[in-house]
Amino acid sequence: MRHQTSLRLPRWVQVLVCAVGGWLGQGPGCAAERLPNIVLIFTDDQGYADVGVFGARGFTTPNLDRLAAEGIRFSDFHVAQAVCSASRAALLTGCYPNRVGIHGALGPASRIGLHPDEVTLAELVQQKGYATGMVGKWHLGRPSQFLPVRQGFDEYFGLPYSNDMWPYHPEAKPGTYPPLPLIEGDRVINEAVTPEDQTQLTTWYTERAVKFIERNKHQPFFLYVAHSMPHVPLYVSDKFKGKAPQGRYGDVIMEIDWSVGQILEALRTHGLDQETLVLFTSDNGPWLSYGNHAGSARPLREGKGTAWEGGTRVPFLARWPGKIRPGSVCREPAMTIDLFPTIAGLIGAELPRHRIDGLDIWPLLRGDPDAKSPHAAYFMYYAQNELQAVRSGPWKLVLPHAYRTLAGSPGGQDGIPAKYETARVTAPELYDLAREAEERANLAAQHPDVVRRLEALAEQCRRDLGDALTQQTGTGARQPGRITER
Ligand code: MG
Repeated sequence: MRHQTSLRLPRWVQVLVCAVGGWLGQGPGCAAERLPNIVLIFTDDQGYADVGVFGARGFTTPNLDRLAAEGIRFSDFHVAQAVCSASRAALLTGCYPNRVGIHGALGPASRIGLHPDEVTLAELVQQKGYATGMVGKWHLGRPSQFLPVRQGFDEYFGLPYSNDMWPYHPEAKPGTYPPLPLIEGDRVINEAVTPEDQTQLTTWYTERAVKFIERNKHQPFFLYVAHSMPHVPLYVSDKFKGKAPQGRYGDVIMEIDWSVGQILEALRTHGLDQETLVLFTSDNGPWLSYGNHAGSARPLREGKGTAWEGGTRVPFLARWPGKIRPGSVCREPAMTIDLFPTIAGLIGAELPRHRIDGLDIWPLLRGDPDAKSPHAAYFMYYAQNELQAVRSGPWKLVLPHAYRTLAGSPGGQDGIPAKYETARVTAPELYDLAREAEERANLAAQHPDVVRRLEALAEQCRRDLGDALTQQTGTGARQPGRITER
């Protein structure tokens, strides 16, 4: 059964009891009692095609490819919104971000954050006595009352928001951003991150992650590694500078891949391979206006900041030797919101009393070839609560809305972005993603019955979560946390 029971005993006592049970011939030992470690690696703006096994060009990702070979790759995995804060809110709560009141990307002066009453993945696993650690970009509220150490993480090291919200960013007019702090726990340990510091971020996060594994090897742990890269401005250490034929973006991804390798090596060194579920994905698609400093969602349409496939569909890999079928591929749709209830099921943790939106996808994750998505539909919101698309099975209904596009232009160069244009969907468009994921052939006229069915699903969702595009207010949306301190 998936729902394992936990012995509420220190890990060393559990190990001793298991060993004695094994010596006395009491069945297969305590494998079923042992709670898995969970390592969740989350990159920033890495596109669907920016991993070797997903079709990367101009750089290699041997460690990510190894995760795929030893585990599972999902070809139709999505974030709940294709933008930083909203995407992270969904990942950590199992809810659509608009349900928890987090939209877009929170700025340094934002007075809101993830509400402390929401239950994060870290708080979920703490029910079972896990050690919890985070390195990297938080972006769910800068005030100290919202930081990771107030939201279930025992320890934290990283940037509180994006690395471009920074006075040195070429796009930032003077005075736009305050100095970018580096935080440990809830304390600022570097008040003004410099360009030189940014070159070390991936290395520092990795060193901390490896030390966390070393320190917690004797008990179940949850480690959340949220890389600041490859979000612009792109920085890389000397270890990988100039290594990728693609250029700087490729160097940055190769360094992230190195980081994944260091984490896998730490798990191997400490004999934790069989006890650890490793998950890898990205927070949204590529920021295409940055041209050669952006990734690729090839062959998908558009990128970050849109509800098209290039925005929400991301590479997803999972490895758990002995539990996940090696080398498998899942083609069913799934979303970051599903990881929360799936992990709850794996460790026997109780779900929150409040409503969440994800569903347990363990049969998909373990590589069961007959497993199907448990969702009747997924809802793609963007901007300030705009329901822009509905996904059900192979069908995606794109609802009338405005979106940003480069309209065929190649994007910017070397860190300076090109300008987006605004395009509009003026009537519902229907795509069969099983037939073509590129969203080119609008089949709405041929399948009016499917359009009606997905519109009815959209209407149900609007009653629950609201929709700014049709001026509806939902009854099920909750409030974000609001600042109570200066
Ligand atoms: Mg992002």
